[in-house]
Amino acid sequence: MSSAERQPLIRPEEEIISYGVNVADGTGSINNEDDVTQESECRTHCAPETVEVGNLNLLSSKFESLDYDTCENHLLLDEERSKGYKFIMKKSFARWIIFLLIGIFTALIACFIDIMIEVLSDLKYNCLQFYVDSCVWNYCLVTPYLLWMVLNIVPVVIGSLLVTYLEPVAAGSGIPQVKCYLNGVKIPRVVRIKTLLVKVFGVISSVVGGLAVGKEGPMIHSGAVVAAGISQGKSTTLKVDLRILDYFREDHEKRDFVSGGAAAGVAAAFGAPVGGVLFSLEEGTSFWNQGLTWRIFFASMVSTFTLNSVLSTYHGRPGDLSYCGLLNFGKFETIVYTFSEFFIFILMGMTGGLLGALFNHINYKLTVFRLRYIQARWLKVFEAAMVAALTCTVGFTMIYVMDDCKPLGQDPTKFPVQMFCGDGQYNVLGAIWFQTPEASVRSLFHDPPGSHKVLSVAVFFVGYFLLSCWTYGLSVSSGLFIPSLLTGAAWGRLVGMGLEILLPGWKVDPGKYALVGAAAQLGGVVRMTISLTVILIEATGSISFGLPLMITLIMAKWVGDFFNEGIYDIHIQLAGVPLLPWEPPPLSNNIYASGIMSHPVVTFNAVENVGRIIDVLRSETHNGFPIVDQQCEDADSMKTCGTYRGIILRSQLIVLLQNKIFNESVEIWNPKQVSIKMFWKAYPRYQSIKDVSVTQEERLFTIDLRPFMNPASYTLLHSASLPRVFRLFRGLGLRHLVIVNDSNEVIGIVTRKDVARFRVWKHRGRMGMIELMISEK
Ligand code: ATP
Repeated sequence: MSSAERQPLIRPEEEIISYGVNVADGTGSINNEDDVTQESECRTHCAPETVEVGNLNLLSSKFESLDYDTCENHLLLDEERSKGYKFIMKKSFARWIIFLLIGIFTALIACFIDIMIEVLSDLKYNCLQFYVDSCVWNYCLVTPYLLWMVLNIVPVVIGSLLVTYLEPVAAGSGIPQVKCYLNGVKIPRVVRIKTLLVKVFGVISSVVGGLAVGKEGPMIHSGAVVAAGISQGKSTTLKVDLRILDYFREDHEKRDFVSGGAAAGVAAAFGAPVGGVLFSLEEGTSFWNQGLTWRIFFASMVSTFTLNSVLSTYHGRPGDLSYCGLLNFGKFETIVYTFSEFFIFILMGMTGGLLGALFNHINYKLTVFRLRYIQARWLKVFEAAMVAALTCTVGFTMIYVMDDCKPLGQDPTKFPVQMFCGDGQYNVLGAIWFQTPEASVRSLFHDPPGSHKVLSVAVFFVGYFLLSCWTYGLSVSSGLFIPSLLTGAAWGRLVGMGLEILLPGWKVDPGKYALVGAAAQLGGVVRMTISLTVILIEATGSISFGLPLMITLIMAKWVGDFFNEGIYDIHIQLAGVPLLPWEPPPLSNNIYASGIMSHPVVTFNAVENVGRIIDVLRSETHNGFPIVDQQCEDADSMKTCGTYRGIILRSQLIVLLQNKIFNESVEIWNPKQVSIKMFWKAYPRYQSIKDVSVTQEERLFTIDLRPFMNPASYTLLHSASLPRVFRLFRGLGLRHLVIVNDSNEVIGIVTRKDVARFRVWKHRGRMGMIELMISEK
């Protein structure tokens, strides 16, 4: 029986009583009891005939899971026993060295990106400033406008070509992809060296091209790739195997390093080592312990320190160590606030939540549009070029139309343009546009009161909000943190300016409100709370302002969550990634393991025939097979499939077959000849069963699977509830869970994807559980 025909087993007395929403039509209406019965009849196989683009209630079957459970087979135990305590110490020492290297290399990449962007942007804005100032009196302003357009379009097109044609997984910030990886989903090519190269040059191109993007988000992805590369001691892309660190070639080991790399990326981006650790914790790593926390913190600290040393030296102040992160918020004097201001911060947090939800909604619609109509690669590049041209047009129009002049002297910008302002004055909007978005955030935080006109900041806010919304999701490498901070800083500053006007007696610091607005907007878009609070505290260096920032972020999250998910989650759902959230869906206690498991199970005997293994691997797509001491007698009935002995993975079987670890008879077979290194060597790009060739004679041979199977994998009784199954998968990073009856006989199997289909459903304050459909796309 093929897997498509196989029906899951639901015992009639255990049918779901209270259930979530109607998934059949995707309307989200609450089910009545009839719907419930009907729905429970098609638990796993209710895939729609046509896949509706933009449906958030579909899971794609193309994403495989990672195996974060350690396979404690005899080979591993023998290896550890034979090498003894010295090997454990060596491994532990190697881990620290790798985390040290992750910190250093991530920081060096950050420095490279930063310096390249600075040098190229300086050239660009220097040239533009010259042409604007000289053309304004010669009536040739069209020249700097066209020049600006070319200087935007050329780098953006280069970056977009790299991403679109060389490595599409390098698009965007990479945070959703890293989040999925840490959660246990294999995203193809996400931690490859080619992805890193495209990411690095792509982000330089996007920022230099003037798009509404930042370089900080991509740093997290870059750190993750660095970590995955260094920790394995080999690169499959470069076809280099240093033959060291092969004992780290397992999914769970690699995951720990990748979480360290992501943390080091945050630390380098924001100068926030603690924020980096919390980011890895908050954004998904499925396993956490004290030792790992300590090492990740070490990598983050090393990353911040290395970046600081290199950038300080580059800027001619070695030893000064005043460049903590790529994003420099500038020096905040102690930020003072009063009790009465908490009310304003709460309101601003709520506004951030509303604006964030609006941003996410517009971006969701845009992404669906892109999925439907912008599929050709040249169209993706064309769209990026169009947005680059639009960005400069918006900027130029604002500078041209808005008459906002301030005396020179109090401007922190490098390239003040005079435009139509009088002598000794500069155009305020020109100052904001003629610099990188990071520098603009700094300006809005630190420009003295009275530096901007209300109208110009308001127009800038609307323009930048829409631009950044359109930009996120383009086929370019780009971060969302900076555009969100900049948009928020703009409306936050407006709030400050409004308060100045409304309460003339108050000594209002508009920079403080710009900071709160920036936090609220970013929180409303990405919905991170713990790590974002700490990142902002570390980036501003103001512990005393931690509570207002936290309150603002919590309010932004609550209000935003009322309407939709965070932007990363929306994109993850759109891609149909089977992500496991932190908590099981509510009201799911009455669903049992027997209700979600697949049955009958394809199993292998402990000593199995080579021909049968090959036939099963060719006919079935499954990745895990329980090992039993006898086969099912009647696969179609609900009879059991033998006493459980262990589980073996498809990848292990393929390695065994490829290396011809089989013999005419088990008696002459000596497992001591086989070492675990054979499996480490093949990791992570296992061959397909199609690449395995055996002779007719060899098909009659047998393999003893006992030394290779995981004899201690987790199993669960059929009567366990869904929340229990869920927590096992989430907490231990499992991929398969064998379901047994009271006599330890295999009666079913549950995979990570089977559990990921049950999701919390929220809509305008209502909550329930939804069962997602699995699509082939
Ligand atoms: P992944 O690709 O990450 O391994 P998956 O759920 O897509 O996850 P498959 O092995 O292709 O994995 O499983 C598809 C369906 O078949 C799932 O519903 C699962 O419960 C079921 N299944 C998995 N392994 C077996 C097996 N050995 N025998 C019978 N059914 C299985």
